[in-house]
Amino acid sequence: MLGTVLYGPRDVRFEERDTPTILKPTDAIIRMSATCVCGSDLWPYRGINLVPEPTPMGHEYCGIVEEVGSGVTSIRAGQFVIGSFFASDNTCPHCQAGYQTSCEHKEIISTAQAPILRVPLADGTLVATLDIPSDDLIPSLLAVSDVMGTGWFAADAANVKPGMSVAVVGDGAVGLLGVLSAKQMGAERIIAMSRHESRQKLAREFGATDIVTERGDEGVARIKELTDGTGADSVLECVGTQESMMQAIRSARPGGFVGYVGVPHGVELSGEELFYSHVHLHGGPAPVRRFLPALIDLVWNGKINPGKVFDLTLPLEQVAEGYRAMDERRAIKTLLRP
Ligand SMILES: [Zn+2]
Repeated sequence: MLGTVLYGPRDVRFEERDTPTILKPTDAIIRMSATCVCGSDLWPYRGINLVPEPTPMGHEYCGIVEEVGSGVTSIRAGQFVIGSFFASDNTCPHCQAGYQTSCEHKEIISTAQAPILRVPLADGTLVATLDIPSDDLIPSLLAVSDVMGTGWFAADAANVKPGMSVAVVGDGAVGLLGVLSAKQMGAERIIAMSRHESRQKLAREFGATDIVTERGDEGVARIKELTDGTGADSVLECVGTQESMMQAIRSARPGGFVGYVGVPHGVELSGEELFYSHVHLHGGPAPVRRFLPALIDLVWNGKINPGKVFDLTLPLEQVAEGYRAMDERRAIKTLLRP
């Protein structure tokens, strides 16, 4: 088969790779219905994370099960399934506590920008839909695999509850779906921080009540102004830079919560500032598996349409253009069809 391999900065190739097969009895092989490019794929693409050797790419996926190993009991061939970027057994103490991305047996999924994918720990990792979905549901079901689940975790970790004020730092796909998640959880005021018109528009569509274009100290001052001088009850940090993290912490009111899901790049926190801020911090790699059944249900029943973040759809073989479009901010997120 042909699959996606990153050779170095801005060098994405679609080339011959071994077709995955069952390696362990707990594996499943799925035929991809759709995959996509993640904002986090841009870190190595831009050379911010080093790529020491040609590296297969992709960790967002949904598709039809072709084959399962002899030890798989709950997933079977022919089902439409969705999984997340870490395979997990869903039975160990960390999984049971809802932190499947810290599973004692976790395995990273990193070869999904391809037509065929091997998924380890299939019983714990994959969730099957009731039926084969219609084609128009595919983008939203794919979004649940990572961006939607990650935005949801940001809001969950930030303790969003009905009536609360929420600020969202970051207007990438995760930030935008953080807005949608906060809306679903009943937030009253949702302030999206964004400078880009198309993203502001989508943020409003997903439930943002206010847009703040300022950043840094000015951005914090605007959030304070909009929340009667107190700061937001909940802040979702969806970028991962020093500036975005400080903006998030300083925008929260004393006693408020920050849910952070942007993969940190060079972020350092001052113990003293944290101590006096009285802010709760919770985040990390989103345990998307915890939320999959509920989010699939919301999509299936037409309650949410997170697939709207895909503003570019390309055939999988044009994956390099998909990366370019996101790198140049011509696209929020690229969906790839094998
Ligand atoms: Zn586990």
